[in-house]
Amino acid sequence: MKRWKKISLVVCCLLLLSQAPFAYRRYRLGRLHAAIQQLAAQRTASPDPDGLLEFKGVVHVHSSLGGHSNGNFSAIIAAAQANQLNFVVMTEHPAKEFDTAAMTLKGEHGGVLFLNGNETSSADGDRLLLLPGDSAAAGDSRSPTQAVLSRRTSGLALVAYPEEFKNWDATGYQGLEVYNVYTNARQINPLVMFFDGLWSYRSYPELLFANFYRRPADNLKRWDDLIKQKGQRLVATAGNDAHANIGVSLNDSSGKTLLGLQLDPYERSFRLVRLHVLVKDVASLNGLSVASFDERILLEAIAAGHCFIGFDLFGDTTGFRFTARDANENLQMGDEIKLEDQVNLHVNVPLAARIVLLKDGAPIQESNATSFMEYLTRERGSYRVEVYLPQLPGPVGLQPWIISNPIYVK
Ligand SMILES: [Zn+2]
Repeated sequence: MKRWKKISLVVCCLLLLSQAPFAYRRYRLGRLHAAIQQLAAQRTASPDPDGLLEFKGVVHVHSSLGGHSNGNFSAIIAAAQANQLNFVVMTEHPAKEFDTAAMTLKGEHGGVLFLNGNETSSADGDRLLLLPGDSAAAGDSRSPTQAVLSRRTSGLALVAYPEEFKNWDATGYQGLEVYNVYTNARQINPLVMFFDGLWSYRSYPELLFANFYRRPADNLKRWDDLIKQKGQRLVATAGNDAHANIGVSLNDSSGKTLLGLQLDPYERSFRLVRLHVLVKDVASLNGLSVASFDERILLEAIAAGHCFIGFDLFGDTTGFRFTARDANENLQMGDEIKLEDQVNLHVNVPLAARIVLLKDGAPIQESNATSFMEYLTRERGSYRVEVYLPQLPGPVGLQPWIISNPIYVK
């Protein structure tokens, strides 16, 4: 065989060999896809004994208003409807010349409730989600973090991108975004993403997320430690950080897409991770059938920590409950319960799963292949739950499917 033929044969073999891991990853996504469908069929939704109403939505969404995004309102509303979301929390970057919080989606549109927030940056480089946003956000980049937090007299302030946040001693923030899709996606090696896309995008565009999704271990530890240090309640949320701006497209002069490969359209982003908010059904107590879910109720529920993070892409997390009971009270995640004699903690999951109960950040009890866990405690501390689906193949089975907010036994 001629020398050049030998070389090209070796190169061909090497090329084929280099693709083997990606072919395997495509095969693995196929197995994941089948397992997710199987799980969906096993879901059991029991009626809520505590009379809590559940609303699912997404937090941390940008439109083109504050730059960095090409998204328009119609696309966002359509994506929320396609995902059957109850709410979307917009977090527009401020602009110098206009009030992006006043201009973004607010109130009800097409059956979806919108909250008009801002993602603001302080002079210290810290970033906050202000819910709702305000016209002063445009000037926040000239103020220290504490001044931004102090100028707010109402609403909610959440720490965004906790891995970069510096002023943890500041007062006035009520929680932090422990998981962010964009931050997680940035950890992917672009070459790996390219070949994964080549092999798997056509068949499993959404499940590409499964290749890079990892438990936000550092942020969860930060959160647990902060609650302990500060001795105060802190709510955890997850951010889709949806921009609809990752990918390439070629448009004609009328704006019609001729060729497009978009990795984060809103509809797909809204499918990955959601915040599920639980509201006491006060209206039904008064003989009305449905609570009037509005911005105030949504904000109050998030502020109270009456919510959990669900990676719904892997299975609908609707129906998850984490409650505390003693002789007098019946409370839910986010709440504080006073330790008299003992507190009974209950976890309910809509699928047989691995349930891990943590106290002050450390696992204290674990149950496998179950949809219910009970734990009796006589110790003060903050208790929270992570739920896993080890039935799912690949790295996904080892990552949390649900992250609850804590119950504070005081
Ligand atoms: Zn953002």
